[in-house]
Parts: sequence; structure tokens; C-alpha cells
Amino acid sequence: MNPPIDISELRFLVVEDHGFQRWMMCNVLEGLGARYVFSAPNGRAALEIFRDRESRIDIVVSDLDMPEMDGMELIRHLGETGGNPSLVLASDLDRSLVASVESMARAYAVRLLGAIEKPVSAKNLLPLLELHRAGPLAPALLPAFDIEEILCGLRGDQMEPFYQAKVEMGSGMVRGAEALARWRHPAHGIVGADAFIPLLERSGNIAEFTRIMVRAAAQGCWRWRSLGFDVGLSLNLSQESLADVGLAEDMTQLVIDQGVSPRDVIFEVTESAMAEDLGRALENLSRLRMKGFGLSIDDYGTGYSSMQQLTRIAFTELKIDQAFVRNAADRSSSRAVVESSLELAGKLRLATVAEGVESKPEWDLFRELGCTLAQGHFIARPMDFGDFLDWLKGRSAGAVARVQRAR
Ligand code: C2E
Ligand code: CA
Ligand code: CA
Repeated sequence: MNPPIDISELRFLVVEDHGFQRWMMCNVLEGLGARYVFSAPNGRAALEIFRDRESRIDIVVSDLDMPEMDGMELIRHLGETGGNPSLVLASDLDRSLVASVESMARAYAVRLLGAIEKPVSAKNLLPLLELHRAGPLAPALLPAFDIEEILCGLRGDQMEPFYQAKVEMGSGMVRGAEALARWRHPAHGIVGADAFIPLLERSGNIAEFTRIMVRAAAQGCWRWRSLGFDVGLSLNLSQESLADVGLAEDMTQLVIDQGVSPRDVIFEVTESAMAEDLGRALENLSRLRMKGFGLSIDDYGTGYSSMQQLTRIAFTELKIDQAFVRNAADRSSSRAVVESSLELAGKLRLATVAEGVESKPEWDLFRELGCTLAQGHFIARPMDFGDFLDWLKGRSAGAVARVQRAR
């Protein structure tokens, strides 16, 4: 269990044009223990506070409908200014409008904790504040690394795969594990993928990184398989890798050299990764499939031409993006995307994975909707090899399939 969030250490910015409402919101926050509460009557004033390095805002609580600069424009500026604040929308506007603003915030890379109706109360605000901590390693808390440091870490053997279980919803059996890169940084501890992968991609160094990750992860997979756990391995591929026509040969060799069969490995690619150089991407993916690897379409639903991609490539699995998992229960539009994705996947005979399942209600919903597999903190967090192996061993004997040994 996580300790309760320490609200007294967080820095808030309340944006609300209505004087009394603004006062109320500040009051509620202070009642919850907040010590640093800034406030502004409109987006313009809010931005000034936000951009002032001294104020270092963690969470913005904002109205949508305000004169001068409305909440939408404020969100765009927050995204552009960076610093990755979390946002809580306080609005009594129509639900579907609030929902589309949620999507917009996401597109601008502003982390939306949720929307609440006015008047704001401690009871409806607190659960959202808890989410501020629950999110993935908040980029704002991560130091920014330059490429030299990252390469130094990579070549210094400081990067390794963590493993996150994929569990079959019907039976509860562990079917696979996704390798997620982590940097065991000598000064900063465990650093998440988002802090170094984008820079490796942009600087043309992702190929070197991918080979190191794939080799290490395949080694891990070989080790658990040799202990008898029939658990497959999922690996992520970047868009840049798909442009290299030698990719499939390389990957096949790497995996086989570690004693793992391509049949036990799935490569995950996002739909946007295929947008760049379609010809090469298709050549690589077809060849990987021909070698026997599984292919998974990652973050399904967030791209622009998902359906078309599905018909072009022989995918074997579809991963429903976390955002839809999060919203499926209470947003009818997300629910519709999920239902139609699952139905489509069924018709195409693809396995389906609900990614980022964090709670029992989410698990129940996806199970009911017929999703094949689930992955997320509700089941297990990404763990280093040792912890993952202990976790596998600790599952009741029936919940992990055993490798059938040929006689
Ligand atoms: P992704 O492939 O979509 O991976 C899922 C992300 O969701 C992971 O973040 C995982 O830790 C996180 N996650 C899993 N369950 C939950 C949950 O219940 N709740 C929440 N809030 N998050 C959950 P992570 O590990 O930070 O990785 C971020 C992204 O970095 C990945 O997104 C993937 O695109 C990329 N990545 C990670 N490892 C590699 C790698 O080895 N190679 C490449 N090319 N990309 C990688
Ligand atoms: Ca993935
Ligand atoms: Ca994903």
C-alpha cells in the first residue's frame, strides 16, 4: 500500500474567474493540508505564475469557461511551456464537452487527473490528487539527461529490461511479460523509459539500444523458460527501427542466439510507427512474422488509421491503449471504441490485451467484454528479473503454465 499523498509538499495553482468559487477552491485545498496555493482569475494571469520558475507548480486546478483566456487555451500553453503539470478540471459544463477537452489535454501532453463538478469539495478532489502520485514516473520529477550521459549509461551496462506480466483474463494464467527498459542510474536510482528512449530515437542511437535490450530480455526469457515457466516475451520496437531493412534478420539472430524461439516472442509496434516509411515497415513486419514472431499493435485507438493498418499486416495481437482502459467505464465514447476494437479483433482472430489495468472494476469490465489478456498495476508492476522470477514462483502453482518438455 502507498502511504497517503503528502499534499503539504505539492504546489497548486487555482484558476477561476468567479471570486467566490476561487476562494472556495483554495479553501478546500488548504483544508486538505496544502501549504502552497497560488490563484489566478484567468488563464493569462495563471500562465504568468506558471512560467515563473519560483512557483514550480505541480497541480493546476482550473475552470474551463473564463473570460480573456479560457481553459482550452490555458491547457495548450501549459503543454507548450512544459514542466509537465498535472491538471484537474473544475467545470459544470456538459460532460461530452469536458470529455473532448480531456482528449485535447492529452494531445498537448498535459497530464489530466480528471474533471470534477463545481462546487469543488474535499471528497471529490482528494481521489484525483492521489492520481498525481499514481501516474507513471512523472517526467517532471525526472532529471533531463543529455545524449552523452544516456549513451554512457547504455555502454556502461546500466540499462536493463524490467518485466511486466500479461495475464489471461479467463483463466488468470500468466501468458507473457513485456520487457520495459529501465536505467539503473548510479545517482538517480531506477529511471523510466520516457527519460531516455525518445532521445536515443532522435539522435540515431536506437538501433544500438534495441540490440542490447533484446539480447538481455531474450536471456531473461530463456532463464524463466528453462526453469519451466511457459511465459512468452513481448518487446517494443521504435519507429526508427522499422526503417532498417536488416531489422528482422538481426532480431531473429539475437533471439535465437539466446536459445529462445521466435514463436515465444511478440514485437509490439505502435500504429504511428508505421506511418513514416510504410514500405520498409511492412517489409520488416512481414519478415518478422514469417520468421515466426508474433506482432502486436500497441496503443491501439490513438493513431489515425488503425483499421487500415490491421488489414495491411498480419498482426497477432491488439493492445488497447491505457486511455481507453481508464475511460471505458464512464465515458460512452471510449466504451464504444473498446467494444468495437474487441469485436474487430475477434473477427480478425487477434488476441486482445487491455493495457494499464489499475483496478478491479477495470479488470471486471474488460473480462466481461471478452478481452483476452490484461496487463497493468492491478496485476503486477514492471519488475527487475529477480523480482519477476520470484513473482512467477509465488503465483499459485496453477497460475503459470509449465513448459512442456519434449522427451
Ligand atoms: P508502452 O509500450 O505503451 O508501455 C506501457 C507503459 O505503461 C509502460 O511505461 C508501463 O510501465 C506503463 N504501465 C503499465 N501498467 C500500467 C498501469 O497499470 N498504470 C499506468 N499508469 N501505467 C502502466 P514505461 O515503462 O515508462 O514505458 C514507456 C514507453 O517507453 C513504452 O510505452 C514504450 O513505448 C517505450 N519503451 C519502453 N521500453 C522500451 C524498449 O525497450 N524499446 C523501445 N523502443 N521502447 C520502449
Ligand atoms: Ca508496449
Ligand atoms: Ca501502450
